[in-house]
Amino acid sequence: MLAEPYKMKVVEPIALPSSKQRESILKRAHYNLFNVASQHIYIDLLTDSGTGAMSQSQWAGIMLGDEAYASCRSYFSLKKAVAEIFGFRFFLPTHQGRAAENVLFSSVIKPGMIVPNNMHFDTTRANIIANGGIPLNLPCKEASMPFKDLPFKGNMDTKALRKFLSENHAKVPLVMMTITNNSGGGQPVSMKNIKKASKIAHDFGKPFFIDACRYAENSYFIKVRERGYKRKSTLEIAREIFSYADGCTFSAKKDAIVNIGGFLAMNDRKLFEKCTERLILMEGFPTYGGLAGRDLEAMAIGLFEGLDEAYLESRIAQTRFLAKGLRDADIPVVWPPGGHAVYVEAKRFFPHIPQAEFPGHALAIELYREAAIRSCEIGSVMFAEKGPDGKMKHPKLELTRLAIPRRVYTNSHLSVVIDAHIKIAERKENVCGYKIVRGSGPLKHFNAWFRPLK
Ligand SMILES: *Cc1c(COP(=O)(O)O)cnc(C)c1O
Repeated sequence: MLAEPYKMKVVEPIALPSSKQRESILKRAHYNLFNVASQHIYIDLLTDSGTGAMSQSQWAGIMLGDEAYASCRSYFSLKKAVAEIFGFRFFLPTHQGRAAENVLFSSVIKPGMIVPNNMHFDTTRANIIANGGIPLNLPCKEASMPFKDLPFKGNMDTKALRKFLSENHAKVPLVMMTITNNSGGGQPVSMKNIKKASKIAHDFGKPFFIDACRYAENSYFIKVRERGYKRKSTLEIAREIFSYADGCTFSAKKDAIVNIGGFLAMNDRKLFEKCTERLILMEGFPTYGGLAGRDLEAMAIGLFEGLDEAYLESRIAQTRFLAKGLRDADIPVVWPPGGHAVYVEAKRFFPHIPQAEFPGHALAIELYREAAIRSCEIGSVMFAEKGPDGKMKHPKLELTRLAIPRRVYTNSHLSVVIDAHIKIAERKENVCGYKIVRGSGPLKHFNAWFRPLK
């Protein structure tokens, strides 16, 4: 195996607080890791969004950024990159992915309309609802089999899509596909599935849009897992993906490896004109869309770096290194790992902690206690809700997500993460559950206070 195809030029110091400090930091944060100041984190795996390390070319691009209000040079750099990779006729920069979603959905959704997707990400879901629409998830059956080793568990159930459209097409403004499927564990979607979903959407006269945040990781998975693509470059694969689509929304904080940015692209001129009006209202003039010229320049460069095959090979190998290290130590991880994160199934890890006492959260806290690692619970803290009968309904899985920032950590850092899990496993009978003592509602995970139950 080869090492990372880059070396360090600028470094940011990190340090492990003492065990006594960690304990008091946890207490002061009310056992919610969002409240821990990042200077007290040793290894931060909270998210892969906007946390990547930019390259020397991107930093050079920051200096070259043109800050003219209208039609700046950096806009044309980005326009060229978008045309070359994505191929859509029109594009609008936005400050991040959710802004692109809001501009799009506020232009196409009328109250009561339904938007199908393999699986909506939180922000697409929320933006559809905020614009009066209804988000619909149509994942393939394998998406809900967390330990079954299959290559494309991010796929859409295209049979269900056809059936849904044949009954409801009048209510559907467009069909979406999220690559990779973030809410479904970062699992990839096959080219075959993208092509088929696109055909079905077009059979019913509906535009097909891609939520393209991790399109480069998805292209790499197609290259190594789907028959017929081994000899194609990731750029050729990306171009083929977008050739089936009528537009896309994009958060550049993921595969364009910048700290802020996004865009909306499409082929339809009428829709573009409508979206441009919305953009000016919500984000700014259409050649900067809520970003500085330097951000546009860094994004244009990052789009190509994110598609580089040596980089993608090492990125996907690093995610696998963490997942395999944990699996070899008998830690229950979702398998196969996706592109950007590894998920530990905390209900299996802590069978003595009932779902009502948040086993995924307990693991996240233990990882901080053990080695100042920050992860993110994706389980009952986030999703449990009272059903119509007044009883709590818990999600199927209690996950703790270890998201991997791009080009930031080495495998030595990830070995610390593996070791921390092993040490926790050795004393897991003593790990207790938690109770929420403050905070409620669907976004409570950001600010709730917890108390250990012992
Ligand atoms: C991150 C993300 C978004 C939203 O992008 P932001 O830049 O965070 O606003 C939308 N869809 C998917 C699949 C994402 O991962």
